[in-house]
Amino acid sequence: MPTPPAPASYRAPPRYHCPRTAAGMPGAAQSIYILYILYIIYNMYGCHLLAELLFPTRCAGCGRYEGRLLCASCLSSLPLIKGKVCLRCGKPTLYEVEWCLLCRRRVRHLDATAALAVYEEPMRSAIHKLKYGNGWRLARPLGFMAAVRLAPLLRGSHPLVTFVPMHPRKRRARGYDHAEILGKAVAEALGLPFAALLERTRVTSPQASLDYRSRKGNVRGSFRPAREKVRGREVVVVDDVMTTGYTLAECARVLKVAGAEGVTACVLARDLVDSFP
Ligand SMILES: [Zn+2]
Ligand SMILES: [Zn+2]
Repeated sequence: MPTPPAPASYRAPPRYHCPRTAAGMPGAAQSIYILYILYIIYNMYGCHLLAELLFPTRCAGCGRYEGRLLCASCLSSLPLIKGKVCLRCGKPTLYEVEWCLLCRRRVRHLDATAALAVYEEPMRSAIHKLKYGNGWRLARPLGFMAAVRLAPLLRGSHPLVTFVPMHPRKRRARGYDHAEILGKAVAEALGLPFAALLERTRVTSPQASLDYRSRKGNVRGSFRPAREKVRGREVVVVDDVMTTGYTLAECARVLKVAGAEGVTACVLARDLVDSFP
Protein backbone atom coordinates (compact mmCIF):
# COMPACT_ATOMS: atom_id res chain seq x y z
CA MET A 1 0.00 0.00 0.00
CA PRO A 2 1.55 3.35 -0.99
CA THR A 3 1.79 5.91 1.84
CA PRO A 4 -0.81 8.62 1.40
CA PRO A 5 0.69 12.07 0.80
CA ALA A 6 0.84 14.38 3.83
CA PRO A 7 -1.85 17.03 3.92
CA ALA A 8 -0.76 20.54 2.88
CA SER A 9 -1.05 21.82 6.45
CA TYR A 10 1.33 19.14 7.76
CA ARG A 11 4.50 20.34 9.49
CA ALA A 12 7.41 18.11 10.36
CA PRO A 13 7.78 17.64 14.13
CA PRO A 14 10.60 19.69 15.69
CA ARG A 15 13.97 17.94 15.92
CA TYR A 16 14.58 16.28 19.21
CA HIS A 17 16.77 18.53 21.32
CA CYS A 18 18.20 17.01 24.45
CA PRO A 19 18.56 19.77 27.03
CA ARG A 20 21.62 18.15 28.65
CA THR A 21 23.73 17.35 25.63
CA ALA A 22 24.37 18.96 22.30
CA ALA A 23 22.62 16.10 20.41
CA GLY A 24 20.23 17.22 17.74
CA MET A 25 21.45 20.82 17.62
CA PRO A 26 22.53 22.46 14.43
CA GLY A 27 26.32 22.72 13.96
CA ALA A 28 26.80 26.35 15.03
CA ALA A 29 24.61 25.96 18.10
CA GLN A 30 26.50 22.79 19.00
CA SER A 31 29.82 24.67 18.99
CA ILE A 32 28.38 27.47 21.13
CA TYR A 33 26.94 24.89 23.52
CA ILE A 34 30.32 23.14 23.91
CA LEU A 35 32.04 26.49 24.48
CA TYR A 36 29.41 27.29 27.10
CA ILE A 37 30.08 23.99 28.92
CA LEU A 38 33.84 24.70 28.82
CA TYR A 39 33.13 28.17 30.20
CA ILE A 40 31.22 26.64 33.14
CA ILE A 41 34.09 24.19 33.79
CA TYR A 42 36.55 27.10 33.62
CA ASN A 43 34.53 29.04 36.21
CA MET A 44 34.14 26.04 38.49
CA TYR A 45 37.71 24.75 38.45
CA GLY A 46 39.75 27.67 37.17
CA CYS A 47 41.90 27.15 34.11
CA HIS A 48 43.79 24.34 35.79
CA LEU A 49 41.61 21.50 34.51
CA LEU A 50 41.59 22.77 30.93
CA ALA A 51 45.30 23.46 30.97
CA GLU A 52 45.88 20.03 32.41
CA LEU A 53 43.89 18.42 29.57
CA LEU A 54 45.83 20.31 26.94
CA PHE A 55 49.29 20.40 28.59
CA PRO A 56 49.60 17.78 31.34
CA THR A 57 52.00 18.83 34.11
CA ARG A 58 55.18 16.86 34.69
CA CYS A 59 56.80 16.72 38.09
CA ALA A 60 59.93 18.91 37.91
CA GLY A 61 61.83 16.46 40.10
CA CYS A 62 61.22 13.06 38.50
CA GLY A 63 59.66 14.05 35.17
CA ARG A 64 56.55 11.87 35.57
CA TYR A 65 53.11 13.14 34.53
CA GLU A 66 51.75 13.68 38.03
CA GLY A 67 49.56 16.73 37.43
CA ARG A 68 51.68 18.65 39.95
CA LEU A 69 54.76 20.82 39.77
CA LEU A 70 56.44 18.57 42.36
CA CYS A 71 54.96 15.17 43.20
CA ALA A 72 54.53 13.96 46.79
CA SER A 73 57.50 11.62 46.48
CA CYS A 74 59.86 14.36 45.24
CA LEU A 75 58.58 16.85 47.81
CA SER A 76 59.25 14.44 50.64
CA SER A 77 62.74 13.67 49.34
CA LEU A 78 63.93 17.27 48.92
CA PRO A 79 67.39 17.48 50.57
CA LEU A 80 66.36 20.20 53.02
CA ILE A 81 69.01 21.74 55.25
CA LYS A 82 67.72 21.28 58.78
CA GLY A 83 70.71 20.85 61.08
CA LYS A 84 73.61 23.05 62.10
CA VAL A 85 74.93 25.50 59.51
CA CYS A 86 77.49 28.22 59.01
CA LEU A 87 75.35 31.30 59.62
CA ARG A 88 77.30 33.36 57.12
CA CYS A 89 77.17 31.11 54.04
CA GLY A 90 74.43 28.57 54.90
CA LYS A 91 76.72 25.56 54.50
CA PRO A 92 75.80 22.56 56.69
CA THR A 93 78.40 22.11 59.44
CA LEU A 94 78.91 19.87 62.47
CA TYR A 95 78.49 22.79 64.87
CA GLU A 96 76.70 26.08 64.38
CA VAL A 97 79.41 28.60 63.48
CA GLU A 98 79.34 32.24 62.54
CA TRP A 99 82.13 31.94 59.97
CA CYS A 100 83.63 28.98 58.19
CA LEU A 101 86.89 28.76 56.25
CA LEU A 102 85.30 29.77 52.94
CA CYS A 103 83.38 32.74 54.30
CA ARG A 104 86.48 34.67 55.18
CA ARG A 105 87.57 34.74 51.55
CA ARG A 106 84.33 34.72 49.63
CA VAL A 107 81.18 36.04 51.24
CA ARG A 108 82.49 38.59 53.70
CA HIS A 109 79.99 41.24 52.59
CA LEU A 110 77.04 38.97 53.40
CA ASP A 111 75.76 38.99 56.97
CA ALA A 112 73.82 35.72 56.80
CA THR A 113 72.52 33.12 54.35
CA ALA A 114 69.29 31.13 54.42
CA ALA A 115 69.57 28.10 52.13
CA LEU A 116 66.53 25.88 51.77
CA ALA A 117 68.23 22.70 50.54
CA VAL A 118 71.44 21.16 49.35
CA TYR A 119 71.93 21.33 45.56
CA GLU A 120 71.14 17.67 44.95
CA GLU A 121 68.31 15.74 43.31
CA PRO A 122 65.40 16.38 43.10
CA MET A 123 66.10 20.06 43.92
CA ARG A 124 68.72 20.18 41.17
CA SER A 125 66.18 19.10 38.52
CA ALA A 126 63.55 21.47 39.91
CA ILE A 127 65.93 24.45 39.65
CA HIS A 128 67.00 23.38 36.16
CA LYS A 129 63.34 23.29 35.12
CA LEU A 130 62.72 26.66 36.78
CA LYS A 131 65.58 28.31 34.87
CA TYR A 132 65.79 26.57 31.53
CA GLY A 133 62.52 24.63 31.08
CA ASN A 134 59.99 27.48 31.13
CA GLY A 135 59.18 26.38 34.69
CA TRP A 136 58.36 29.82 36.05
CA ARG A 137 55.33 28.38 37.88
CA LEU A 138 57.75 26.58 40.22
CA ALA A 139 59.14 29.86 41.54
CA ARG A 140 56.18 30.68 43.75
CA PRO A 141 55.94 27.43 45.76
CA LEU A 142 59.73 27.18 46.04
CA GLY A 143 59.92 30.84 47.10
CA PHE A 144 57.34 30.19 49.81
CA MET A 145 59.41 27.27 51.09
CA ALA A 146 62.59 29.39 51.10
CA ALA A 147 60.71 32.05 53.08
CA VAL A 148 60.11 29.51 55.86
CA ARG A 149 63.88 28.97 56.04
CA LEU A 150 64.57 32.71 55.98
CA ALA A 151 62.03 33.78 58.63
CA PRO A 152 64.05 32.79 61.75
CA LEU A 153 67.07 34.80 60.53
CA LEU A 154 65.13 38.07 60.33
CA ARG A 155 64.66 38.34 64.10
CA GLY A 156 61.90 40.92 63.94
CA SER A 157 63.54 43.19 61.34
CA HIS A 158 61.51 44.37 58.34
CA PRO A 159 63.93 44.18 55.39
CA LEU A 160 63.45 45.04 51.76
CA VAL A 161 63.43 41.95 49.55
CA THR A 162 65.26 42.07 46.23
CA PHE A 163 66.84 39.59 43.80
CA VAL A 164 69.96 38.92 41.74
CA PRO A 165 68.86 40.27 38.36
CA MET A 166 69.61 38.82 34.94
CA HIS A 167 70.96 41.05 32.20
CA PRO A 168 67.99 42.56 30.27
CA ARG A 169 69.14 40.82 27.08
CA LYS A 170 69.12 37.41 28.76
CA ARG A 171 65.82 38.18 30.40
CA ARG A 172 64.22 39.03 27.06
CA ALA A 173 65.49 35.76 25.62
CA ARG A 174 64.09 33.72 28.53
CA GLY A 175 60.88 35.72 28.92
CA TYR A 176 61.06 35.95 32.70
CA ASP A 177 63.57 36.38 35.52
CA HIS A 178 63.30 33.38 37.81
CA ALA A 179 65.05 35.15 40.71
CA GLU A 180 62.58 38.03 40.48
CA ILE A 181 59.56 35.71 40.78
CA LEU A 182 61.31 33.88 43.63
CA GLY A 183 61.97 37.19 45.38
CA LYS A 184 58.35 38.30 44.99
CA ALA A 185 57.17 34.98 46.46
CA VAL A 186 59.53 35.31 49.44
CA ALA A 187 58.33 38.88 50.06
CA GLU A 188 54.68 37.85 49.72
CA ALA A 189 55.05 34.92 52.11
CA LEU A 190 56.60 37.08 54.84
CA GLY A 191 54.61 40.26 54.17
CA LEU A 192 57.78 42.22 53.33
CA PRO A 193 58.24 45.00 50.75
CA PHE A 194 59.76 43.97 47.41
CA ALA A 195 61.89 46.20 45.18
CA ALA A 196 64.33 45.75 42.29
CA LEU A 197 67.41 47.23 43.97
CA LEU A 198 70.08 46.01 41.54
CA GLU A 199 70.78 46.19 37.83
CA ARG A 200 73.20 44.17 35.70
CA THR A 201 75.64 46.39 33.93
CA ARG A 202 77.08 43.76 31.59
CA VAL A 203 76.48 40.22 30.40
CA THR A 204 78.58 37.78 32.42
CA SER A 205 79.45 34.20 31.59
CA PRO A 206 77.39 31.68 33.57
CA GLN A 207 79.29 31.07 36.83
CA ALA A 208 78.81 27.31 36.45
CA SER A 209 80.81 27.39 33.20
CA LEU A 210 83.92 28.86 34.89
CA ASP A 211 86.52 27.44 37.22
CA TYR A 212 86.34 28.69 40.78
CA ARG A 213 89.25 31.10 40.44
CA SER A 214 87.66 32.94 37.50
CA ARG A 215 84.28 33.38 39.12
CA LYS A 216 85.14 36.32 41.35
CA GLY A 217 86.49 38.37 38.45
CA ASN A 218 83.52 37.40 36.29
CA VAL A 219 80.96 39.11 38.54
CA ARG A 220 83.13 41.93 39.89
CA GLY A 221 81.58 45.26 38.86
CA SER A 222 78.65 43.63 37.06
CA PHE A 223 75.94 45.17 39.28
CA ARG A 224 74.92 48.68 40.15
CA PRO A 225 72.25 49.88 42.58
CA ALA A 226 68.89 50.86 41.06
CA ARG A 227 67.09 54.02 42.09
CA GLU A 228 65.27 52.71 45.17
CA LYS A 229 66.73 54.05 48.36
CA VAL A 230 68.48 51.43 50.45
CA ARG A 231 70.29 53.74 52.86
CA GLY A 232 69.88 52.46 56.40
CA ARG A 233 67.73 49.49 55.34
CA GLU A 234 68.19 45.79 55.88
CA VAL A 235 68.05 43.93 52.55
CA VAL A 236 67.37 40.30 51.61
CA VAL A 237 68.81 39.22 48.24
CA VAL A 238 67.09 36.18 46.69
CA ASP A 239 68.68 33.82 44.15
CA ASP A 240 68.36 30.20 43.06
CA VAL A 241 71.73 28.60 43.92
CA MET A 242 74.77 29.65 45.91
CA THR A 243 77.99 27.86 44.95
CA THR A 244 81.06 29.95 45.71
CA GLY A 245 78.91 32.86 46.90
CA TYR A 246 80.81 35.40 44.76
CA THR A 247 77.69 36.65 42.94
CA LEU A 248 75.67 37.21 46.11
CA ALA A 249 78.70 38.72 47.88
CA GLU A 250 79.14 41.18 45.00
CA CYS A 251 75.45 42.14 45.26
CA ALA A 252 75.91 42.64 49.00
CA ARG A 253 79.00 44.78 48.42
CA VAL A 254 77.15 47.04 45.95
CA LEU A 255 74.15 47.36 48.27
CA LYS A 256 76.36 48.22 51.23
CA VAL A 257 78.22 50.84 49.21
CA ALA A 258 74.76 52.29 48.41
CA GLY A 259 74.07 52.48 52.15
CA ALA A 260 72.35 49.19 53.06
CA GLU A 261 72.64 48.42 56.75
CA GLY A 262 72.81 44.65 56.41
CA VAL A 263 72.43 42.08 53.62
CA THR A 264 71.08 38.55 53.99
CA ALA A 265 71.10 36.04 51.14
CA CYS A 266 68.15 33.70 50.61
CA VAL A 267 68.69 30.83 48.16
CA LEU A 268 66.87 27.68 47.18
CA ALA A 269 69.96 25.53 47.20
CA ARG A 270 73.52 25.48 48.51
CA ASP A 271 75.94 23.74 46.16
CA LEU A 272 78.51 21.92 48.29
CA VAL A 273 80.76 20.77 45.44
CA ASP A 274 83.20 23.50 46.34
CA SER A 275 82.93 23.16 50.09
CA PHE A 276 86.63 22.68 50.69
CA PRO A 277 89.24 25.28 49.85
ZN1 LIG B 1 58.39 13.73 41.23
ZN1 LIG C 1 80.53 29.79 55.88
